[in-house]
Amino acid sequence: MEENDHFIEGIYNWCDRWCERCKYTDRCFSFQMDVEDGIDRLNRDISDEKVWEHVGKRLSQALEMLHEMAAEQGIDLDNLPDVEEEPPSERAERLKALCEELHKEYINRTKVFFEENKDYFHEKGHESIRWVEMGISNEEEALAKWQQVSDQAEVIHWYTYFMGVKMRRAIGGLDDMDEEHWGSPGQSDANRTARIVMLAVDRSMAGWQVMLESFPEKESDIVKTLALLARFRRMVEATFPRWAEAGPDVVW
Ligand code: SF4
Repeated sequence: MEENDHFIEGIYNWCDRWCERCKYTDRCFSFQMDVEDGIDRLNRDISDEKVWEHVGKRLSQALEMLHEMAAEQGIDLDNLPDVEEEPPSERAERLKALCEELHKEYINRTKVFFEENKDYFHEKGHESIRWVEMGISNEEEALAKWQQVSDQAEVIHWYTYFMGVKMRRAIGGLDDMDEEHWGSPGQSDANRTARIVMLAVDRSMAGWQVMLESFPEKESDIVKTLALLARFRRMVEATFPRWAEAGPDVVW
């Protein structure tokens, strides 16, 4: 299969990897390559053996491609000159430390909230059933509310680790945003990565908002978590003020 105009260039590099909820599977070269190889990313019951066989195949393809590209540029991959890597700027180092600190605290708060409140969630579930039985609330509404809570809990979990990992990647590219090969800083890997971080933060905040509406007794904890996410968001915005201009040109 060839990567042609039907596919959105590089979309898989700057997405949230949530293929089950992605509306661009048909236009994602990476997803369609898997389909061609008989791998269904939407099916979680795939055997380990098949996954590793597939990973091995992809790795060989990537190496083959790398060698071809290097040969085209006249580069001998077996005899590369030693290159001294530039150390990250002070700003990047400082941001990395701040990102680590905020992200670690967020992971911890999320874990504690969902683990320590298990009994409370069960009690709230029973309370909903009692209210339906007494005719105080409507069954359909109660089910819809719990479905929404469950969906948003899944959203929060999906992005909990993702946002920090991606933000570290974005910060890692901060010093290279002006490199010519990006075309413009707005389309650099760092800025494109920042865009998906913002999406992860905003969706997580919306998820926590639903938790707040559903579990008002936990307001104090949830508000602190939201405040932490707001701090994380400010860090992303201040570092990458032009994140919204970044490609790929899609509406997530
Ligand atoms: S663009 Fe969509 S289909 Fe492709 S890897 Fe990302 S989430 Fe999955």
